[in-house]
Amino acid sequence: MLHLAIIGSGPAGYYTAEAALKRWGEEVHVDIFDLQPVPFGLIRSGVAPDHQSIKGVAKRYDAVAQAPNVRFVGKVAVGRDISIAELQELYDAVVLATGAPSDRTLEIPGSDLGNVFGSAAFVGWYNGHPHFADLAPDFAGGHAVVIGNGNVALDIARILAKVPQEFEGADIVAHALDALRASKLTSVTILGRRGPHQIAMTPKELGELGSLERARPRVDPADLPPEAEDAALDPGMRKSIQHLRAFAADTPSDKPFTINFDFFAAPHALIGDDNGGGAVQAIEVERTALVDGRAGGTGEFYQVPADLVISAIGYRTNPIEGVPYDTAAGRFANEEGRILPGLYCVGWARRGPSGTIGTNRPDGFAIVDRIAEDFPAPGNKRGRAGFEALAAARGVDFVTFRDWRKIDEAEVARARDGAPREKFVAFDQMLAAAGKH
Ligand SMILES: Cc1cc2nc3c(=O)[nH]c(=O)nc-3n(C[C@H](O)[C@H](O)[C@H](O)COP(=O)(O)OP(=O)(O)OC[C@H]3O[C@@H](n4cnc5c(N)ncnc54)[C@H](O)[C@@H]3O)c2cc1C
Repeated sequence: MLHLAIIGSGPAGYYTAEAALKRWGEEVHVDIFDLQPVPFGLIRSGVAPDHQSIKGVAKRYDAVAQAPNVRFVGKVAVGRDISIAELQELYDAVVLATGAPSDRTLEIPGSDLGNVFGSAAFVGWYNGHPHFADLAPDFAGGHAVVIGNGNVALDIARILAKVPQEFEGADIVAHALDALRASKLTSVTILGRRGPHQIAMTPKELGELGSLERARPRVDPADLPPEAEDAALDPGMRKSIQHLRAFAADTPSDKPFTINFDFFAAPHALIGDDNGGGAVQAIEVERTALVDGRAGGTGEFYQVPADLVISAIGYRTNPIEGVPYDTAAGRFANEEGRILPGLYCVGWARRGPSGTIGTNRPDGFAIVDRIAEDFPAPGNKRGRAGFEALAAARGVDFVTFRDWRKIDEAEVARARDGAPREKFVAFDQMLAAAGKH
């Protein structure tokens, strides 16, 4: 019997479990740990609440989750409740699928001003991640700035621009919907250091901005490269650029909310009130120009009004004691997923924050190949029995997949009209719904 511990129940964790079942069948026991009492990582707390068809991917993990030799061990944080060394004592192989949950910080003056957030925190807030339920962003001002030119920036701009009716069928949490209902925002500016040909935005997400109820996307035609240059792009990027060209050609409308694309714009400083500690009021931006595909400053500065700033400039894996870490890359130090003998990583914890949910599937299968190469003979460890003994001795109470089912049912039962669920936003509420106390 091979005892496998997977740390993290996001896509990378579940695809690794699926691959392990395919390879070893009944000859493997898989425990999937998560620090949250609920599974599925960013599918639950990252993917936009108005993109329910994508969130539905989690249903594909059900067969794996319910296999008799796979167990969800929720509310156990590795590095806090149990160490890597302890897990390695108990399991033949430990796979870190912990994602990249921390924001890359915006290293410019003023980034500690009020109403400035990283995207992990802001997205976690509207998606009901308990760590960010108390964020309390203020929407009393007129202008928001989102820094970054990827799909996360688009998600955030769209959520800020939508009217409440456009969240029908979405599982945006009540505290976020209420706050957005009272929002006084009339514009979002999306800042990108480089130009339209360098965006990391996909056509579907860009196209959505063109059909919002009260908001209109705006692109300065002067920022677009000559159309002939689009021919060199891959088909997906070409479609994305076509959307930007359409936004640039669009005639002004009476829609009261604008989503401005500000390309060739590098954030230089955030400006607040002079007393310090106050809220952000504007962002100073340096105009850039591309040199060999890289953005260089031109020395021309201007200000964009900003009552709310959200930086969506990437994520970092959280270090865990005893695990070698690549500080520059912001993820575990690894060679094709191998960290140390018996210790592996997969998904965003291995590659950094790029790719779609599906990108993590081949990653999961590849890591199981590595484990199979390293463990040709069945192991001799205690696995889950050993974990249970340690958890009991330590007073660590954990949540099972059956407990999650109860939380799931309770969330669905308390959904507002038209919504698929109303998430619990505190661990205590989740545990109560699971009948844990
Ligand atoms: C805002 C946002 C929107 C996105 N939208 C889409 C989309 O629409 N479509 C798409 O295809 N992709 C989307 N993605 C990308 C997709 O979510 C990722 O590719 C995927 O979730 C990465 O999977 P993962 O398993 O590596 O990490 P995660 O999904 O982050 O899972 C990591 C898990 O590990 C747990 N964990 C972390 N540390 C510990 C610890 N110490 N102990 C125990 N557990 C721990 C976490 O609680 C979490 O459950 C989006 C990403 C973001 C950030």
